Amino acid sequence: MRLPERVCLITGAGSGIGRETALLFASEGAYVVAVDLNESAVSETAQMINDTGADAVFVTADVSQPQDCEHMVAHAEERFGALHVMFNNAGIMLSEDGDAVGTDDAIWDKTIDVNLKGVFLGCKYGIPALQRAGGGSLINTASFVALMGAATPQIAYTASKGGVLAMTRELAVLHARENIRANAICPGPLRTELLMKFLDTEQKKQRRLVHIPMGRFGEAKEIAAAALFLASDESSFVTGTELVVDGGIRAAYVTPE
Ligand code: NAD
Repeated sequence: MRLPERVCLITGAGSGIGRETALLFASEGAYVVAVDLNESAVSETAQMINDTGADAVFVTADVSQPQDCEHMVAHAEERFGALHVMFNNAGIMLSEDGDAVGTDDAIWDKTIDVNLKGVFLGCKYGIPALQRAGGGSLINTASFVALMGAATPQIAYTASKGGVLAMTRELAVLHARENIRANAICPGPLRTELLMKFLDTEQKKQRRLVHIPMGRFGEAKEIAAAALFLASDESSFVTGTELVVDGGIRAAYVTPE
């Protein structure tokens, strides 16, 4: 077991990366607090875990709302006595998100509220709980678009993920002496609902695939495996890093300084 009796809160646990991570963490001995806006999806995730004999609860929450974030952390502590791993993973990619000239203010605000403010609020309420537990692991989902210009315009999404990456570095430095590690995961394009809805034609999918050296989309399970490393003691000297899981995109396009 790589997460024995660790209490792990995962946002966006109703689908994609969040659900796969919840299932994987539970199979490694964790107590899972599965959080999502979509109640039926997240209750299903918790049920899938409980059906295996492991222990999970679900919380319906909107990560852009302070009271919801306060509640999800309080619930984790009430139900399982502590919080050891906080995975701020929930995110959105809106089809109306485009270039700077054409993107509506409302699309910008909504994307930043969920993807960036949502991570901030997860930290605001999650970090005190990690402190009370004597330390822990904070993991934030960024994206490869935080590291390089995307081929498809999505200005608000890209800005939100750049913010997540910068914020994670600061958190890592500030909380290092409190035994709290903070790391980001930068997934490449994945075959999850979020991206497949955005790349809604075969032509758009093929255009993205051209840029991936492996020639395929990644799977949510492959990101869950990276999250497991960052959550577990195997990464005990790893903080402030970005774990890139992108099928080789960064290697193909970013030259070392
Ligand atoms: P997904 O759409 O399969 O899952 C996202 C989940 O987040 C959904 O269950 C949704 O209901 C939930 N959610 C959305 N808004 C929420 C809110 N306000 N409060 C709580 N929950 C909310 O997507 P995914 O691909 O698993 O994405 C997970 C994370 O990975 C996101 O942060 C996304 O930006 C990031 N990411 C995805 C890709 C990709 O290609 N899919 C690439 C890089 C990064």
